[in-house]
Amino acid sequence: MLQDKDRIFTNIYGMHDRSLAGAKARGHWDGTGDLVKLGRDKIVEIMKASGLRGRGGAGFPTGLKWSFMPKESDGRPSYLVVNADESEPGTCKDREIMRNDPHTLIEGCLIAAFAMNANVSYIYIRGEYIREREALQAAIDECYDNGLLGKNAAGSGWDFDLYLHHGAGAYICGEETALLESLEGKKGMPRMKPPFPAGAGLYGCPTTVNNVESIAVVPTILRRGAEWFAGFGRPNNAGTKLFAISGHVNNPCVVEEEMSIPFDELIERHCGGIRGGWDNLKAVIPGGSSVPCLPGHVMREGAIMDFDWLREQRSGLGTAAVIVMDNQTDIIKAIWRLAKFYKHESCGQCTPCREGTGWMMRVMDRLVKGDAEVEEIDMLLDVTKQVEGHTICALGDAAAWPIQGLIRHFRHEIEDRIQVKRGGKVEIAAE
Ligand code: SF4
Repeated sequence: MLQDKDRIFTNIYGMHDRSLAGAKARGHWDGTGDLVKLGRDKIVEIMKASGLRGRGGAGFPTGLKWSFMPKESDGRPSYLVVNADESEPGTCKDREIMRNDPHTLIEGCLIAAFAMNANVSYIYIRGEYIREREALQAAIDECYDNGLLGKNAAGSGWDFDLYLHHGAGAYICGEETALLESLEGKKGMPRMKPPFPAGAGLYGCPTTVNNVESIAVVPTILRRGAEWFAGFGRPNNAGTKLFAISGHVNNPCVVEEEMSIPFDELIERHCGGIRGGWDNLKAVIPGGSSVPCLPGHVMREGAIMDFDWLREQRSGLGTAAVIVMDNQTDIIKAIWRLAKFYKHESCGQCTPCREGTGWMMRVMDRLVKGDAEVEEIDMLLDVTKQVEGHTICALGDAAAWPIQGLIRHFRHEIEDRIQVKRGGKVEIAAE
């Protein structure tokens, strides 16, 4: 269990002063200029050694990503862009950082931008996050007033400007290249890769896009050392992590915990258990709506909440947005709702996603009612495979995976519903 002394986010619930004075009292902005003076190579080296993997869902090693940025400028500026377009259903962790602990992010932006030779950074915040934008902007203004941003930011010798940009509420703008398009004032549509942003990103210049949490943990890692951070979690799954637990638990919450915490410990310690007890657990979506669900019995029996364990179960940690569903849940309907969401959010520029998401949703429409042929289950699975991996961005995969998880683990429920609709006899499968 993570102890209070090891928490990076000390005001995640907004119980304390979130102003600059409050943040400083909790140890933020302490010797930031000296951290910058460690130099670029050293900072990247520490980040690599810490084992931090991106907190936005993909889990790519953060230090390695930074090292892709050009060391010397060819005349073009470099940019750090922070992805605060947190729109995945179930995910609500970055929001708590921005409204309650914004200085962790701002300080992280300065250090990360320096490490990537960027004098300018943009935070692209989700359209619906109005109060969060206000809190974050107030914190940025305070930093400018106190010399922590701008010329010679925080006495580091590095000039650094930070801009907060408000999105318009499209989910697809959370995809890094769509985000860059939107930031440039264009329609938020993902770009073909390559070129990757580190070569040609914002305005055609070298750019790194990082998640809010990935950046906000940077100052503390540098202050306390790579070994400290790497000491949490299993190898290759280092650090502390914000988990956002929603659904049928007694106390849904966002909590910072050690990576690789067992699922039952996470739920018992922080969420007051499963609604109706553990026997009432039906399924869990462990990492935000795009990852496949796992059945309750898998999650009860020693599930480990980290990248590798969940990937071995053919699911994923994603953003660590844990959606818990009990036996009262109509799981077919729940996944249908996600299919509808992805169909709505497809930007429409590639055919498998534009047509496939609509097709999948319409079959799901009928499966919810049992109004289908049993053979259509395999047809639907086949379509998900044709969408998966055949699109410009990961939204195609995100639309396919929840349905694959449903069919993999709850095929019997879909079949039963079809049988019931036909007035046929239903055999109750033993769990
Ligand atoms: Fe747009 Fe979907 Fe293609 Fe992504 S996968 S680029 S959202 S159409």
